[in-house]
Amino acid sequence: MYAKVIVDITHEKLDKVFEYSIPEELEGVLKVGTEVLVPFGRGNREMRGYIVGFSETPDYAPDQIKEILRYEEDKRAIESKLVALAAWMKEYYGGTMIQALKTVLPIKKIKKTIKKKRIRLLLTKEEGKEKMDFYLNKNQKARARALKGLLEQPEQDYELLTKKLSISSSVIRALKEQKVLEITEEQSFRNPVKYQKKEQKEIFFTLEQQRAVDTFKRDYDSRQFRTYLLYGVTGSGKTEVYMEMIEHVVRQGRQVIVLIPEIALTYQTVLRFYGRFGERVSIINSRLSEGERSDQIERVKNAEVDVMIGPRSALFTPFKNLGLIVIDEEHEAAYKSEQIPRYHARETAVMRGRLEDASVVLGSATPSLEAFYRCEKGEYTCLTLKRRAKEQELPCVYVVDMREELKRGSRSILSDKLKELMNERLKKGQQMMLFLNRRGYAGFVSCRSCGYVVKCPHCDVSLSSHKNGMLVCHYCGYEIPAMKTCPSCGSSYIGGFKAGTEAIEELVRREFKDAKVLRMDMDTTRKKEGHEKILSAFSDGEADILIGTQMIVKGHDFPNVTLVGILAADMSLYGDDYRSAERTFELLTQAAGRAGRGSIKGEVVIQTYNPEHYSIEKAAEQDYEGFYEKEMDYRRILGYPPAAELLAVLVTGEDEKLLDTAVKYLKDFALRAGRKKRLQIIGPASPFVGKVNDVYRRVIYLKSGDYRSLTVMKDHMEQYIEMNKGFQMLRIQFDFNPMKIF
Ligand code: ADP
Ligand code: ZN
Ligand code: ZN
Repeated sequence: MYAKVIVDITHEKLDKVFEYSIPEELEGVLKVGTEVLVPFGRGNREMRGYIVGFSETPDYAPDQIKEILRYEEDKRAIESKLVALAAWMKEYYGGTMIQALKTVLPIKKIKKTIKKKRIRLLLTKEEGKEKMDFYLNKNQKARARALKGLLEQPEQDYELLTKKLSISSSVIRALKEQKVLEITEEQSFRNPVKYQKKEQKEIFFTLEQQRAVDTFKRDYDSRQFRTYLLYGVTGSGKTEVYMEMIEHVVRQGRQVIVLIPEIALTYQTVLRFYGRFGERVSIINSRLSEGERSDQIERVKNAEVDVMIGPRSALFTPFKNLGLIVIDEEHEAAYKSEQIPRYHARETAVMRGRLEDASVVLGSATPSLEAFYRCEKGEYTCLTLKRRAKEQELPCVYVVDMREELKRGSRSILSDKLKELMNERLKKGQQMMLFLNRRGYAGFVSCRSCGYVVKCPHCDVSLSSHKNGMLVCHYCGYEIPAMKTCPSCGSSYIGGFKAGTEAIEELVRREFKDAKVLRMDMDTTRKKEGHEKILSAFSDGEADILIGTQMIVKGHDFPNVTLVGILAADMSLYGDDYRSAERTFELLTQAAGRAGRGSIKGEVVIQTYNPEHYSIEKAAEQDYEGFYEKEMDYRRILGYPPAAELLAVLVTGEDEKLLDTAVKYLKDFALRAGRKKRLQIIGPASPFVGKVNDVYRRVIYLKSGDYRSLTVMKDHMEQYIEMNKGFQMLRIQFDFNPMKIF
């Protein structure tokens, strides 16, 4: 037997795997992940390495291969555990061991030392408050905002404060001249946010919260490291529950990873964690530079951090003694990686938990069908919060049938009911949100006479119409000027039918002249901090109406919002995809959950052409379990996850003919290899988008009752692909239980 060993796992060139022979007495003892000592280089220097795989036949002449010296059994070595996790990921999701290792292991990057500026408040609380009133009286809003931020946290990072609160440097300079604050510089950038723990407002848990926390603690203390689904309606106090669990684990000297979807990783969320755990918290997100990121990994390795917060990739934080992984909003599609290995953070977290004796807590108001299904089967433990924490009632929901509106001769995007409620809110000075559900829909332009749809010549998707008079492809960026007549039949009835957020903003401004309006979508948030800026402006009451796409529905807490309007609720039902209904239900429920989080009961208007669809009906009733039952029936009948296991094999290439031939061979091979298994093989289909950027795509789907037979098929197909030269010009990816049909 031969072992493949990597000797420097922090090196960028992880690809370098060395082959060693295994001494007889160690055969069967060594495992993937075991730390070994090997002779290295000309001088046969003794070096540490990790086993990443085995083979029976060597790649080199056997007499040139050196032998492993001995192994170290350090059960605490985090590297061993992460290498073992990578091996599981390779097996479970496909791809190579190198790709898996690169996903899992932190890689050292050279970092520059950057000077970081910090801001410190020079006033006492009382002086500060007085000064703030002074600024407010003089209508100096930016100064007041900066001061408010500093009163909450007297010492802050310069960049963070100015960007998050959108304060210009001239404002800071003015405050400095007035001796309100001072600016200091420090050499290297160690901790992205230097915060003190804050006095915690004492809260008394509701019975449901208490029960969830008690169950967790009891299991944890008897070393039963389970996976929990914390299923709690919007505003039920899930975050408070997480924090109590985290504290329990940290007190016992173990560490915690908290995954949050990038988009919900806002200033407010982060501050809540800093307030509770102070400097022992760290964040990793895409806004940090490489250097800043590797600084955070250094801090983790030096045991300076107990809690790491971040998106999907933070799951691989190399904590030595991990005790808990929390995944907030576990239903989010962003937890599935789009790169090889296409892992899902939920399953991978459960595996990491198993390898390291850690608990896993998944939280959501609209759990993924997968998570709820596992609860039903007893694999996860369900902890339920049915009521909102401050006993606020769930909002009252009206469903408006837009077909009826049209029959009555009303062609507006806003129904009469919605307009009426909006006017009421403006009178009362309460805030509202208008949410346009545009998932899976691209504002396409078509001809009302002949039905022609304008498409991208490279990508086979419809072009979207933009305000600047251009039609744009959202995949590749191709654009042409909008045409006045139909290229197919010459009719002049060509145009976009459905409005985008911009058009809605225009309409709202026209109809509600006195209202202050903010818009949040891909265009207005393109700049680095645009997202945060709009949210904090809205949260400070600088607008009455916030209009936006899905990004406004995620987890934000605006207590003054008492009305949510959902336009085109059924749009996401038209996506050609088995998760459309789930996504629709989830978006509507989350959007509705934004209303009435303060002391006043909220109202929600759902506008739809499809009021009888169960995803809309159940969302209006805020009935997750009712939805779950119906949707599971559908998945069972059609054999979709989680009722069955699905493997998508995506093959892409520039040469369409070669692609078609190769895919045909691959399918024939799969049919032969899967003959004795109970498998269904579908395709090859031209995927939903057949061509992107002049690259052609084909997909084969394999369905089975058990996952294991799909991974076996994947292994066979990988071997077949490697042995046949015809596949060299093509790219092949495996996607287990994909989030969408390609
Ligand atoms: P979720 O994460 O479920 O949306 P949060 O944890 O953000 O809910 O709680 C919503 C709001 O209710 C927050 O302002 C939180 O501080 C507050 N809250 C949570 N639990 C309690 C409680 N037991 N008593 C009073 N307020 C609470
Ligand atoms: Zn036409
Ligand atoms: Zn295109």
